[in-house]
Amino acid sequence: MKTSLEQYSKEDHGIYQDNIDKDVIEISDALISNGYQAFLVGGCIRDILLGKKPKDFDIATDANPAEICKIFKNSRVIGRRFKIVHVYTSEKKYFEVTTFRSEASKKNHSNKFKKSNGMIKRDNVFGTISQDAFRRDFTANSLYLDLDSEILHDYVNGINDIKNKKLKLIKKPAISYQEDPVRMLRAVRFESKLDLELTDDCREAISKMAYMINNVSPFRLFDEVLKIMHSGNAVTGYKKLLKFNLFKYLFPYTHDIMEKNHIYDDFFVAALKNTDTRIKDNLHVNPSFIYAVFLWPYFKKLEQKYSQKNSLGVDLAFQKTIDSQAKYIAIPNFFQSTISTIWSLQDSFLNLSSRNIQYLTNLHKFRAAYDFFYIRSTMDDNLKIYADKWHEIQKKVVSKKSNQDKKRYGKRNRK
Ligand code: ATP
Ligand code: MG
Repeated sequence: MKTSLEQYSKEDHGIYQDNIDKDVIEISDALISNGYQAFLVGGCIRDILLGKKPKDFDIATDANPAEICKIFKNSRVIGRRFKIVHVYTSEKKYFEVTTFRSEASKKNHSNKFKKSNGMIKRDNVFGTISQDAFRRDFTANSLYLDLDSEILHDYVNGINDIKNKKLKLIKKPAISYQEDPVRMLRAVRFESKLDLELTDDCREAISKMAYMINNVSPFRLFDEVLKIMHSGNAVTGYKKLLKFNLFKYLFPYTHDIMEKNHIYDDFFVAALKNTDTRIKDNLHVNPSFIYAVFLWPYFKKLEQKYSQKNSLGVDLAFQKTIDSQAKYIAIPNFFQSTISTIWSLQDSFLNLSSRNIQYLTNLHKFRAAYDFFYIRSTMDDNLKIYADKWHEIQKKVVSKKSNQDKKRYGKRNRK
């Protein structure tokens, strides 16, 4: 890996202040006027260079978390493995400010901060900007923009990789993925959503090291899988998870069933298409939906097994599905209850009595359960006739609701 610093002026990198949130410029000014360095770094720079709108803006500084909090009254330190500061600019809006870190793997820190399997467990050894540049994952994610001088600092040849549309790990793939196997999921996400292609060595290493994803905390995997599925490119992300061998380690029970029954692959693609469309249309997406989809094949298998012997078979099947999966991906209780509702309502869609229609359409989770049923019906002709009827019913519900909303707003306007 090339280690020399390249600097690019505004004319060369082409990032202008109107690409950047005003609040970020204020945070950066406050750090600089207090004698610290401040750089924009990570996905925001990468996305602007690729002509995309950044999702968020992250700031890196040489101020430590306590010093950052001293400058910004409205801030708090979060994280244990990796301490960062959230600086609030309004009640709901905040930015991540991160202190430069050095490699946790260096010399005397090696044993203290690494698990026996080579994973980094804590990463709070502060350092300089150049050290910080080398502890990041991909070269495209390691570009630093100084908002004061407007010079872009590149220690890892990231600008050229972006120009050549390459997604490249800073370290050797075997070392990088071992230090943090989540980088394999980040590789899938970035390749799916950005117009960048993983270098051959970075791609090949994933298939060989995919099993290491099970070294990651099941809670962290819940978030990381969701980030892929809610990126607006879930179909591509899912296909890459399969191709790189990762899906098998994330959803082992589902994967086992899929090897025998290919219909579920179509079901997943149909559901993920629906999620991608909702994201593009700026509609709400519920995390439970994705997990209800991926765990459905295993739940159905267990339901069939337990229901033959036990009147509480459905409940047993639900609990066993969630508990077995929790060793790999842990689903928070709140989302478990929505999954249970979506699944338990499926049979109710076979009842078209007016009483049942009224009952179902008044339920809070009607929409999620209906979407799920509708997607199932595209794979199963027996459900199609019901799905078509429910399609008409839900259209009426939506239009009734929008009339009610209009009336409500109308009243407010008259006040
Ligand atoms: P986006 O926010 O668009 O999903 P991002 O690259 O900004 O993408 P974040 O999770 O916001 O992703 O992380 C911010 C930056 O922190 C990254 O760009 C990268 O430099 C660094 N980073 C995040 N996760 C890791 C990791 N697991 N290993 C090394 N560096 C990381
Ligand atoms: Mg980001």
